[in-house]
Amino acid sequence: MAILEKKSSKDLIELEDKYGAHNYHPLPVVLSKGEGVYVWDVEGKKYYDFLSAYSAVNQGHCHPKIVGAMVNQAQTLTLTSRAFYNDRLGEYEKFATEFFGYDKLLPMNTGAEAVETGLKLCRKWAYEKKGIAENDAQIVVCKNNFHGRTTTIISFSNDPVARKNFGPFTNGFIKIDYDNLEQLEEALENNKNIAGFLVEPIQGEAGVYVPSEGYLSKAKALCEKHNVLFIADEVQTGVARTGKLLAVNHEDVKPDVLILGKALSGGAYPVSGVLADDRIMDVIKPGNHGSTFGGNPVAAAVAVAALEVVRDEKLAENAEELGQLFRAEIAKYIETSNIATLVRGKGLLNAILINDSEESDTAWNICVALKENGLLAKPTHGNIIRFAPPLVMNKEQLLECVGIITKTLKEFEK
Ligand SMILES: *Cc1c(COP(=O)(O)O)cnc(C)c1O
Repeated sequence: MAILEKKSSKDLIELEDKYGAHNYHPLPVVLSKGEGVYVWDVEGKKYYDFLSAYSAVNQGHCHPKIVGAMVNQAQTLTLTSRAFYNDRLGEYEKFATEFFGYDKLLPMNTGAEAVETGLKLCRKWAYEKKGIAENDAQIVVCKNNFHGRTTTIISFSNDPVARKNFGPFTNGFIKIDYDNLEQLEEALENNKNIAGFLVEPIQGEAGVYVPSEGYLSKAKALCEKHNVLFIADEVQTGVARTGKLLAVNHEDVKPDVLILGKALSGGAYPVSGVLADDRIMDVIKPGNHGSTFGGNPVAAAVAVAALEVVRDEKLAENAEELGQLFRAEIAKYIETSNIATLVRGKGLLNAILINDSEESDTAWNICVALKENGLLAKPTHGNIIRFAPPLVMNKEQLLECVGIITKTLKEFEK
């Protein structure tokens, strides 16, 4: 057998380009190792990771406790399907429901699947509990949302790149502006067939849009008034990212349906889920919904370990503290900068706005330069760069990163 030759970044990029579908446009860096807040490329160059796999790796790369739980379970039992019980799932469901404060968990794998599950749950509840006539249920969503990539989910996206030539689409969704309570109230007042309101507590992919203070609590109150389910997609904002366990905790809101994914596993394994109380979840009966891998023993073991890390290492508190510091330091730089115009976010989910048009490639070029300077980040949309490091970062590392970011931005000043 031939000895495996060591391929360069260039070779590996060509390989993906030739044999993989072109459904992403990655930054030209090929990673082969990760530990905590760091990743390394195949040439051995070390970087700070400021994407954290879209906030999946909140607990840091290859956290030993999470990897340990995964390896241990992988050597014992990996998959039974839900045709049989396994000895890990119930323990995980008890842990997760107590952790987040709900009666029941419905386990899935990816974020998009959990969103689909939340939508199906909402519709079924509307017909069986609220009394909406069959097939008449409508769900209110927000413009510029990102909830995943299935056909139903892109049906209510307004991103033309995500939608074009993927129709026909699923009906039953009403789009309103994000952070607009008047439009929500109007939609709820004028339509008796509204079953739910699906919302991201902060719109991550849209560019880390933080809504006005009080938006979430007032939206929840409107939903309650009209007997409409408040469905929070916390796939990106949840699990300590924004400085609280959940982003809705900033306004003391308890969603009727809570959707989680990404950091639920610390990025070790695809784990997602939907949480709700019995009055809602009990509409789901055997055969109504499922997934071969959802709730498998490895996922269950990994998720418990990942949540224990969040609790034991006080990651929400750390995200809150470092987030304040990050925004304060970047804001100081912005005062004298003509390339960066604004920093916004909560906890360690932040974005910097770049002073150029949405169509320009300035933000992309800045990310390429950041990579050269040892820090990995990516534009969300056009001229907005998201900065979301693992939450296990310390203050000294964060200040070093602020130095790298401001130094790089200075290279682009006009
Ligand atoms: C990433 C994301 C999803 C989709 O998760 P996948 O695991 O990629 O399917 C859904 N909602 C939000 C808010 C996300 O950030």
